[in-house]
Amino acid sequence: MYRIPTRCVHAGTIDDVREKGINSPVYTSTSFGITEGEGPVYPRYMNTPNVKAVSEKIAALEECETALVFSSGMAAISTVLFAFLNQGDHAIFQRGLYGGTMHFLEREMNRFGIHYSIAGSQSVADIQSQIRKNTKLIFIETPSNPLLNITDIPAVAALAASAGIISVADNTFATPVNQQPCRMGIDVVVHSATKYLGGHSDILAGAVATSGRLMKPVHETALNFGGSLNAFTLYLLERSIKTLDLRVNRINLNAMEIARYLKSHKKISKVYYPGLADHPGHLTASAQMSGFGGMVSFEVAGQDARSFQKKLRLIRPAVSLGALETICCSPASTSHRHLGAEGRKAEGISEDLIRLSVGIEDAEDLKADLERAL
Ligand SMILES: *Cc1c(COP(=O)(O)O)cnc(C)c1O
Repeated sequence: MYRIPTRCVHAGTIDDVREKGINSPVYTSTSFGITEGEGPVYPRYMNTPNVKAVSEKIAALEECETALVFSSGMAAISTVLFAFLNQGDHAIFQRGLYGGTMHFLEREMNRFGIHYSIAGSQSVADIQSQIRKNTKLIFIETPSNPLLNITDIPAVAALAASAGIISVADNTFATPVNQQPCRMGIDVVVHSATKYLGGHSDILAGAVATSGRLMKPVHETALNFGGSLNAFTLYLLERSIKTLDLRVNRINLNAMEIARYLKSHKKISKVYYPGLADHPGHLTASAQMSGFGGMVSFEVAGQDARSFQKKLRLIRPAVSLGALETICCSPASTSHRHLGAEGRKAEGISEDLIRLSVGIEDAEDLKADLERAL
């Protein structure tokens, strides 16, 4: 098998037999001729050539048998949950999930008769203590948002396997360049491809990677829910993933440098980055990640998040993450606003926490911008 940078460029590319173009042709048709013996090809069935091309690339990167691309990360996540969970089933979710996933649980699960528990922490013991007779699925997300907590992937995978429970990992923050959960025994990987896989703040997409056996129910549910992606966006996503390794490695370096800079700054009271030796998840992260990613969170001493962010010139306050440009946000007023002050306190998210999504700019320019604001 080729190494990751080579797979980023080549895996899944459609062989343009007719014109010999280097890139995958874009097939925009919604109607395909009927071929004897094969099922119908139709975009919502997620079996068009461009879906297959990008899915194959993502499967190759995650080292899974198969993958499917969706119209958003939430389309991928909701499809996986409804594919494996029936009325009366129970699922366990780790603490510190993406806000949209939490909102989905609160809003959609119980009304379909599906029960769930949120584990007390990211620890395997806290996840294990929630297992019931009817537990069918365990869902983790590591590193987590916005505190970059680390869940021990092999331990959760082994726990789930020993109990016959399907394990799902949201690999959005790490990307397959830094972490491949299926290689550590996780059954299903989900992605918001809107973030690093897309990587240019111009694509909304999602993905699921898993075994052929587990993809069967996911695919069946997917065609009923209809969260498929159009050919043009698929083409952009394919093009983006070609540079994933380059981008993520640069972002890893920049984020490490910025985390160290913040750590040593006297006006910074706290830094959360799994690459720092004193991060509580550092050892686990070092064992399961080949790079620590681009998300860095911190608190400024004696300055509130709003006034600090106002002084930045290069780093813009903005939502989402994982793109070329460095952006910042205040989780208390964006992703975790709905929790309320009490809820945020329980999650350990301070009102003045600032989360950076580090981009590919020159690290010196980024540090100078932070220095100015400090
Ligand atoms: C953004 C995000 C999602 C949801 O993805 P969308 O593409 O916005 O639907 C899920 N998980 C994580 C970790 C995310 O950051």
